[in-house]
Amino acid sequence: MSNCLFCKIIAGDIPSSKVYEDDLIFVFKDISPKAEVHLLVIPKVHLESLDSLKDEHQSLIAYIMLKLPELARSQGLEDGFRTIINTGPGGGQEVGHLHIHILGGEGLPGFN
Ligand code: AMP
Ligand code: ZN
Repeated sequence: MSNCLFCKIIAGDIPSSKVYEDDLIFVFKDISPKAEVHLLVIPKVHLESLDSLKDEHQSLIAYIMLKLPELARSQGLEDGFRTIINTGPGGGQEVGHLHIHILGGEGLPGFN
C-alpha cells in the first residue's frame, strides 16, 4: 500500500526504533509512548484493520498473538503487559495498517 505510513516504516523509507523483525512481522517503539514500554506490532502484509481479516489470515494472527508475550518480556515486562487493538474510526484507529499496541512498565494509565 504505497501511501501507508507503517508500510513505509517496514520498507525503511521512514525511520523507526525497531525492536524485532522476521518474515511476518515488524515491531517498533511508538513515537508517542503512553507508558514506559509502548511497542507497535504490525504484520508486514498490508491489512487495514481487524475488519479486513479473512479466514486466510488465521495462521498469521495466531502467530502474532503467540509472539506478544515474548516481545513484552524482551522489553523487561516480566509481570505482565497490556495489549490494545483499535479498529476503525469508531475504535480510535489513526493509522490504517493493523497494529497491536503492547504497553507496560512505569506510567501505564488506568483502563477504567
Ligand atoms: P492507533 O490510534 O491505534 O491507530 O495508533 C497509532 C499509533 O501510531 C499511535 O500510538 C501513534 O503514536 C503511533 N505512531 C504514529 N506515527 C508513528 C511513527 N512514525 N512511528 C512510530 N509510531 C507512530
Ligand atoms: Zn500498510
